Amino acid sequence: MTNPWIEDTPLSPIDPDEFTAVLLGTGTPRAYPGAAKPAVAVVVAGRVLLFDCGADTVRQLIDSGLMPQRVRDVFFTHHHYDHNAGFPDLFISSWRTHVGIIAGRAVPMRVFGPQRTQDIIGRFYAALEYDIGLRVSYNKSDLDGARIEFVEGNSGVLLDEDGVRITAFEVDHRPVEPAVGYRIEWRGKVLVISGDTRPVPTTVEAARGADVLIHDAYNAAWLREISDQNPELAVQVTNPAKYHTTTLEAAQIAQDAGVRHLVLTHHIPAPKRTPAAEASYTEGMAAVYAGRVTVGRDLMRLPV
Ligand SMILES: [Zn+2]
Ligand SMILES: [Zn+2]
Repeated sequence: MTNPWIEDTPLSPIDPDEFTAVLLGTGTPRAYPGAAKPAVAVVVAGRVLLFDCGADTVRQLIDSGLMPQRVRDVFFTHHHYDHNAGFPDLFISSWRTHVGIIAGRAVPMRVFGPQRTQDIIGRFYAALEYDIGLRVSYNKSDLDGARIEFVEGNSGVLLDEDGVRITAFEVDHRPVEPAVGYRIEWRGKVLVISGDTRPVPTTVEAARGADVLIHDAYNAAWLREISDQNPELAVQVTNPAKYHTTTLEAAQIAQDAGVRHLVLTHHIPAPKRTPAAEASYTEGMAAVYAGRVTVGRDLMRLPV
């Protein structure tokens, strides 16, 4: 930046040999401080891939130094609003942000996900069409960047490019159907993102030998306590837990799959940032799983 009066953009350089997951949001549909809505940025082969796009995604991409304009490819696990509500902002911000050394996105955004993705994200896009038209005609924004290309699939390889292979696998988040997780492979390293799911054998299969598994989690004992203390809210508290995975179940999946490093996210609710709270949250996991466990936090960087 040559003008000394303009705020600097916090750009983090990208090493072409880097394979890192950056947790942009470790929260849930409920609004809590310190836990943005779900999204994971994956830095691999010199690019930034995005997995889910919660409402805070653009802000978190800026605060992480990755910047929204580096994102061309977005993978959705499912279409609960906490995972997709940030899409309109990301779509425009990645296209229209030119500040700093990275130009805005001048190629179509590629959107991957299970069935329903084109329908639901297409409707977000339709709501933006008026604005997009003005930006093309009045601001002279790049026409290619104004477009989306969709790739839908509930299982199998969705992207295989420059040595990066991304395979979707079906999980069980019913009544949300379909819902998927992703296995990301590069140079013999493997990262797996579970998405929101009950414990399922497909995750064990997909995570076989993975270096890092990012899995959704809640502490069953904590939730039981909250429900006992608030009997009038028992259904609201315990129903969502039925289509997620407990900390102990996530540990069992990681153990069965031979995962090296298990990272918990989508905490319902998140533990305080104290060693005692994290110890209580993960209690019993070490008896099930021999590998490393990390309580995921917003903007945490996890080398694969
Ligand atoms: Zn969710
Ligand atoms: Zn969900």
